[in-house]
Amino acid sequence: MVINLGTPVVESREQRLGTVIAWDGSASRLVKESCYSENGTACCGCRLCERENRGPFTQGASCSEMMVECQAGHVRDAVLIQHSPIGCGASQVTYNSKFRNALKMRGLPVKNMRVVSTNLDENDMVFGGIDKLENTIVETWERYQPKAIFIGTSCSTGIIGDDVDSVSEEYSQKLGIPVIPLHCEGFKSKHWSTGFDATQHGILRQIVRHGHEKQEDLVNVINLWGSDVFRPMLAELGLRVNYVVDLATVSDLAQMSEAAATVGFCNTLSSYLATALEQEFGVPQVKAPQPYGFAGTDAWLRELGRVTHRETKVETYIEKEHRRVKPLVEELRARLSGVKGYVATGSAYSHGLIAVLRELGIRVDGSLVFHHDPVYDSGDPKQDSLAYLVENYGDVAHFSVSNRQQYQFYGLLKRVNPDFILIRHNGLAPLAARMGIPAAPLGDEHLAVGYQGMVNLGESIRDILAHKKFHRDLAEHVTLPYKKSWLESDPYSLSIQTSAAGEA
Ligand code: SF4
Repeated sequence: MVINLGTPVVESREQRLGTVIAWDGSASRLVKESCYSENGTACCGCRLCERENRGPFTQGASCSEMMVECQAGHVRDAVLIQHSPIGCGASQVTYNSKFRNALKMRGLPVKNMRVVSTNLDENDMVFGGIDKLENTIVETWERYQPKAIFIGTSCSTGIIGDDVDSVSEEYSQKLGIPVIPLHCEGFKSKHWSTGFDATQHGILRQIVRHGHEKQEDLVNVINLWGSDVFRPMLAELGLRVNYVVDLATVSDLAQMSEAAATVGFCNTLSSYLATALEQEFGVPQVKAPQPYGFAGTDAWLRELGRVTHRETKVETYIEKEHRRVKPLVEELRARLSGVKGYVATGSAYSHGLIAVLRELGIRVDGSLVFHHDPVYDSGDPKQDSLAYLVENYGDVAHFSVSNRQQYQFYGLLKRVNPDFILIRHNGLAPLAARMGIPAAPLGDEHLAVGYQGMVNLGESIRDILAHKKFHRDLAEHVTLPYKKSWLESDPYSLSIQTSAAGEA
């Protein structure tokens, strides 16, 4: 699969990967229908189909522009301009708190993120918003003197057709810093993860530098805001970590081309950037299972060791960590065996978490992923994380794809009646709580990574199971806002296809 950096507009996930946001069945069937080795295209020429399960409305979701906000907006010495009505900046509150917490966790000076809005109004929708954009760039420069300015577009600017690219080019020259258009109109992609790619696309085009010497001990770690687990792990192999994109500086981003390798904690986030760094700058992407559970972490480390020529150090580290962690995992298995868990997170991340739960002896009969990429950008089967999960840890009977629709969540949980859920994106957790199911919100997405991750996650689950009684009491005293008839229905029974058939 070839990534095209020649145009300022990123190709959406649906165009590149055939991404779907609605599907229901077993994990093994999804593996089969994804046709990974055929780059997401089935033998009959069709792509994985979501039509049978796609709902006729959406109760709420994120958009690409929000992902730009939490990536470009979190580059420490840059500024993001949201060229949009002020409402598109509603997530600034949440993302500012994530940014501040993350800085604190990493031992960096705590400060607010720097995101400003052009605050487009009705007038601008008629006469265009370019003047406002230019004024905002000038004011941003005078106020902050950033090392780069990102400009995120929005549905409104997509509709009125403001020429953001020309303005960016003009001000790049005037100010002598990269001014980078990020095309992330919410309506252009049905899944928000296209926003990750839009940010990474702009960085690859205008910040990553060409022609510098390689740094043989530097590894790009594509991450969000998680705790610093990679630095100590990679230090044991004699490697240094370059955390990107969140919490990086512009200079950290520029040196990505000099690294010896690129890794990530989740293929959903890292697919585009890691593949493009390999394609355009010759930085090898570690193509291996994700670093979760014993088997995944072993394979991931061995591939990293091979790419960075540290095979012996890797074997020593693996042996040492197995010896240290195995008894701890055994102890947790003894306590958690037979407990039923449910995972509701982003796509590839859930594949890793389910592996860890099964290492801990926890039964997983169901999972909700917010989208599914039938293939990742490298197209390399070694990165087929869902197939890896099914082959190494067994099938998941109810593996559902839905972009965080509350109205479906009750039915999905009822099918499997878990004792707890792991959730990222807390919007769904209160519903689970009202059903008597405690949730572990994975605020620190690195919690379950690597060998220590199995221990961390096991201990967190042990803690949340202690809240079971509180949640049972809660369930007895609350009512859900849905009719009984809906609560008894199949959660996918409102699909477009079913509705159309009903009308006919
Ligand atoms: S870019 Fe579009 S979908 Fe996203 S917040 Fe703004 S209006 Fe909503």
